[in-house]
Amino acid sequence: MDSNLDKRVVLVTGANRGIGLEVCRQMGKLGYQVILTSRDEEKGGTACQALAAQGMAVNFCPLNVSSEDSIQAARDFVLKNYGQLDVLINNAAVFLDHESSILNISMDILKKTMETNTYGALRICQVFLPMMEEKKYGRIVNVSSQLGQHARMHPNWSAYRLSKLALNGITQMLAEAIRTPNVLVNCCQPGHVRTEMGGSTAPLSVEEGADTIVWLATLPKNGPNGKFFSKRRRLDW
Ligand code: NAP
Repeated sequence: MDSNLDKRVVLVTGANRGIGLEVCRQMGKLGYQVILTSRDEEKGGTACQALAAQGMAVNFCPLNVSSEDSIQAARDFVLKNYGQLDVLINNAAVFLDHESSILNISMDILKKTMETNTYGALRICQVFLPMMEEKKYGRIVNVSSQLGQHARMHPNWSAYRLSKLALNGITQMLAEAIRTPNVLVNCCQPGHVRTEMGGSTAPLSVEEGADTIVWLATLPKNGPNGKFFSKRRRLDW
């Protein structure tokens, strides 16, 4: 386990509810300084207060992952208040597909999905990686989905599948590109989890869904890099 974790700072996107909020709770419990972000200030502020009331070191920062201005403002917030970022969890995502297939998916839905799930996550990595490289420590977890696996390229839910397929590719490319030791980038699928996205009948709790994300966020120095995980085990691309 990481001996510096009482000083470590983690930022989680899309953390006002669902798996993101649970990741904040678990990281806070481990002693990390948590930056809970949300595009909605009211919802994010309420979620943050609830964790702070449980004794966690948590701060709220507004962050809309589809907005360059918002990403830059979050970077300024992190530098001003912490001077570093050690762990980044790209969790925010939308699932806008309904009954559409690759044959009729609207370009508007595809663009909106990619902007949030893929471009937003990549842009946030680009903006925060220099802080990690400077400190020679970093853990990035891109929260993907099994629907983004090559073997699962079925024609339905095509915008969401493509967004996560590309996020997996970004994870591999970043891991290849980063030359600083001890900066690790991985992606995982949380499983089918009971959240607004996963629905109330999904088999897994948010605690179970957050488990592999938190495990990847706290990897030791020689941990895996540029890989895809489910239940703490390697998944094929
Ligand atoms: P969720 O309950 O729908 O939460 C999604 C979060 O993303 C919300 O906080 C939402 O904020 C936020 N968000 C959406 N667009 C955003 C933007 N532009 N900027 C900032 N935040 C934004 O979903 P979840 O189930 O917790 O999913 C978390 C992650 O797990 C996602 O990456 C998802 O793809 C992945 N995943 C989930 C499941 C599952 O079964 N639940 C399965 C596989 C993968 P608002 O409240 O403002 O909308």
